[in-house]
Formats: sequence, structure tokens, C-alpha cells
Amino acid sequence: MNNSNLSDPEIPATTTDEKRDLKQLSRSELSDFLAEMGLPRYRADQVFQWLYQKGADSFAQMTNLSKELRKRLEEVACITRAKEFSRQEAADGTIKFLFRLDDPRDYKVEAVLIPDFYEDGVVKRITVCVSSQVGCMFGCSFCATGRMGFFRNLSHGEIADQVQAINELSEERFGKKITNIVYMGMGEPLHNYHAVVESVRIITDPLGVDLSPRRITISTVGLTKQIRQLAREGLGANLAISLHAADDQKRNEIMPINESLNLKELEEAVREYHRITKSAVTYEYLLFDRFNDHAEDALNLVKIARWVPSKVNIIMYNNVAGVSLKRVREERLNEFMKVLIRHKVTATVRRSRGDDIDAGCGQLAIREGQPRGKSLVKT
Ligand code: SF4
Repeated sequence: MNNSNLSDPEIPATTTDEKRDLKQLSRSELSDFLAEMGLPRYRADQVFQWLYQKGADSFAQMTNLSKELRKRLEEVACITRAKEFSRQEAADGTIKFLFRLDDPRDYKVEAVLIPDFYEDGVVKRITVCVSSQVGCMFGCSFCATGRMGFFRNLSHGEIADQVQAINELSEERFGKKITNIVYMGMGEPLHNYHAVVESVRIITDPLGVDLSPRRITISTVGLTKQIRQLAREGLGANLAISLHAADDQKRNEIMPINESLNLKELEEAVREYHRITKSAVTYEYLLFDRFNDHAEDALNLVKIARWVPSKVNIIMYNNVAGVSLKRVREERLNEFMKVLIRHKVTATVRRSRGDDIDAGCGQLAIREGQPRGKSLVKT
């Protein structure tokens, strides 16, 4: 497979009538659409704010628009919305949400709220992990989402809906906004490039969730063409590479994408990304027992960490049913970390959260007996 085959698959229309779905329009398309109706610019700002800051799913809720204008909008436009379907709470405060998409096929995706607390119980950081696709085609062997296969991309509106709804809950429950977003839920974000980029623009907009792009991290398995494109986007969000193995042979074994886009290609793309953005990158490394946790693996990781300024997140894997890779043991984790520290790599251990509700890294998947979607891995 080559990188050019990884362009955005089309998002099917989610409405059956002729009305324009405002949630499928980018911010500038929304302005144009309302301008064509003869409305002044500030009306577009008001509608945008209702859609993405207040989570409106009907024009009736837009009370600062006149009744006549709401009626006109209802005649020509509609609003789709991904809505919370259910939620599960873990002992550590992590909450996993299931969102139902406005789609006749009844697709659902998961998103996770991860609160971090100070010792006195006051909330320090509230991270949201969002999904960007229904399923995923990249078939990483440790990942429950990869086993579903790929069904469809989310629209920018469907991604922003997850954030808006969880932000609302965060304000209710913790009295404060979410502080960080990671695109590490279901799907490969850069395989849905345009919707992901537009969703970041919406989320960071003062009339959206108004979060700084520096608080947003987009992760990728290493789609090199899109990494280069992202470098030129001027988005200001952080880039994380899901590395998980530090040599081609091991990476091929667990991440099929590496067979076509290997570490050499990844290195070139990451160097170009840094040359353009001057930003550090993060490497995510799930540590598996007796697979990628040897001293030699750590030394290979040191070399990768030196490509450009970077930090490494070592993630403790939550076991997934049917996956032979297992969570590393504490003593092997400690030995691995010692090598990184000795070589002055900035590395932190992240203990995956919400494992009692399957909300940890690699665990997100819908298990409702769906047939398998498209995948790089043939079954
Ligand atoms: S780890 Fe990411 S890219 Fe790999 S299968 Fe899972 S969701 Fe897809």
C-alpha cells in the first residue's frame, strides 16, 4: 500500500432530505451559506456558537434569533448531532461515553473523560480522548478498535460534538472546563485528516470550546504524507506518534502500516515536521511484556527520541481479550526506564486509566456483534 491510497474516505450524507446539514459545513462555509440567505456576519457567529459551544440540535433553541429567522432556517437547513447514548464510570473517576451518531446505520463511537486530581481531591487536569472514525482499518494487533475494521469517518461536527458534550459535563461536575484533548480514541486521526483539522479549528474557536491548540494532541500511527501536511497547516496542536516498537521488524509484527511506511520514512517526515513547526513531538510507546521491553529496545527508542526534540510516554498496556501481547511487569518497566533516563530521554510512565470499564489505551471498541469493517489485515 502506498501513502496516497490513504486519502479521506467519503463521509456519507446523514440526512435523507434536501436540507443542508449545518454540521457538515466548515466555519467559512457556514458563513457563506448564511450570507447567501442575506444574513449579516454576526448571525453566522451566533449560529456557530449555538452549534459548537451550546450544543444546540434545533433552531428552536437559538433564542437570540428572531422567530421568523428560525423558521426560515428550519425550511432550508437541519442540524445533525452525535448524542450521548450511555456512560460508564470507573473507580478512578474516568468516564467512558458511548455516542450515537445521527446516522441511519446506528453507528456509535466512544470518548473518554480522564480527570487528574491533586492529593486533596481538587481536580487538576481534565483530559478528553475523542474518536475520529467508526472503527479503524490499520489493524494494530494490540488494539480492540483495529479488530472492528473501518466503517466510516466522523465529520468535524461529530468530533466537536463529543468535546462539547463532555465539556458541558465537566463544567457541571467539576465546575471547570476540560483542559486537554487527545485524538487517541477510536480511529486513526490523520486518516480522516480534513475533518480532524476542521474540528481542531472549531474546538479552539472562542465561539466554540475556546481551548488553546497547545492543549490538543493529534496522534498518528505514522501517516507520513499527512504529517508533512499537518506541519504546513499552522494549527498549533501537538503531534504524537504511536510508535510502540523501535525497530522495523517488531513494528511490522504489531502495526501493519509499518510494512509500507517504515521507520526511515517516519524519521524523514518527523524531521520535516520539526523543521517547519519547530515543535517537539511525543512518542507513545505501549510496553508489552517480553516483546518490546528489552534493553536493546530501549536503546533503539533512545535513537528515535533523538531524531528531533521529543518526549516519550511509556504506557502501561491494559490487556485486551484475545490479544497475546500482555502488560509489562513492574520490574521490567523499571529497567526499561533506567536506560531511557541514563540516556537523558525525557520520558514519563503513563498508567492507562479506566481499565475496569475498558476505557484504557487500545481498549476502545463497540462489541455489539457488528460484522467486521475494512482492514489492512486480511482475515
Ligand atoms: S492503534 Fe490506532 S491506528 Fe492502530 S488499529 Fe488502533 S485505532 Fe487504529
